[in-house]
Amino acid sequence: MTYYGRWTYKYEEMARRGALGTIIVHETAPASYGWPTVKNSNTNVMYDIVRKEPAKAHAPMEAWIQRDVVVDLFKRAGMDFEASKKLAQTREFKPQLLKGVTLSAHYAVDAQVIKSKNVVGIKPGTERPNETVIYSGHWDHLGVGLPDAKGDKIYNGAVDNATGIASLLELARAYGKAPAPKRSVVFLAVTAEEKGLLGTEYYASNPLYPLATTVGMINMDALRPDGPARNFSSSGDAKQDMLDMLVAKAKQWNMSYSPDPQPEAGHFFRSDHFPMAKRGVPAISFESGEDWLEGGEAAGRAAKEAYTTNNYHQPSDEWSAQWPFTGMARDLEVLYSLGRDLADSKAWPNWSQDSEFRTVRDQTAAKRK
Ligand SMILES: [Zn+2]
Repeated sequence: MTYYGRWTYKYEEMARRGALGTIIVHETAPASYGWPTVKNSNTNVMYDIVRKEPAKAHAPMEAWIQRDVVVDLFKRAGMDFEASKKLAQTREFKPQLLKGVTLSAHYAVDAQVIKSKNVVGIKPGTERPNETVIYSGHWDHLGVGLPDAKGDKIYNGAVDNATGIASLLELARAYGKAPAPKRSVVFLAVTAEEKGLLGTEYYASNPLYPLATTVGMINMDALRPDGPARNFSSSGDAKQDMLDMLVAKAKQWNMSYSPDPQPEAGHFFRSDHFPMAKRGVPAISFESGEDWLEGGEAAGRAAKEAYTTNNYHQPSDEWSAQWPFTGMARDLEVLYSLGRDLADSKAWPNWSQDSEFRTVRDQTAAKRK
């Protein structure tokens, strides 16, 4: 799946084109979830960052419609939904008018402004301080919520994402002790990831250091606190130089790369590195490997599945005295080394030629001479 297949892209693009509203036709198979997910996610409180020009990001109306309803609407207009959809997949497609079909939408919006903070640290570079390498992780989790069977209401988020924040702090400590690199290194703890990547969306919309001279962003979210693995992964595969550099780097630690087994699920577009990627900045979310030195893939996969079923976004995502953290410690050596290489070099990693983020990156190429 490319970004053009994501519903967020459709809303963004229509807002850019000045649409009055966008109605997305929900189809279960391509969405990979049913109508109840759409309904539950979007009839609740919705969040966004405070934007300087909100109309450029959102059309006045953003909505979904069930497929059966839209098939009926097309029929009333004397048209065939499936035929129009097929046509829309060709270059010959021209916008069509649904004759005799009108829409009237009325809704009351109660808006409140909630304040939260991103927390940022910097190790200034010695030679080219305006060029930055970013490490990031989200510090928020779900807070206090519905109690579980034991009455526990505190959603600790020990794995998601205290592991990422612990990593960020340790990387900052390591950079703090080492001689300063040539480029600056930024440590970015972002808020409101769980509300829709809002902390990084805010940073990417209001960057402290220019995006054009941001070399890349290495994000850490929900790392495994177990022993070391023979492999690692990333949150969705996107073809880019920084992933190639990471793969080469990890080989020095005898770690191999395991591609995303489910690229069609669009994981690349659902993690904190994405608001930066969308604006052309090379960005990646590191993921712990599942092929454990002790116990192999069977043990690693079982642990991950147990976490997803029993702990993910539940009060039981809690610190355990049994966790060795030796895998994370080893993985952070790799991430330190990758960031350090970038911070000491003149390299500008980019997206592959056919990447949907290449064009926007190349528009600012003159600023990276
Ligand atoms: Zn997370």
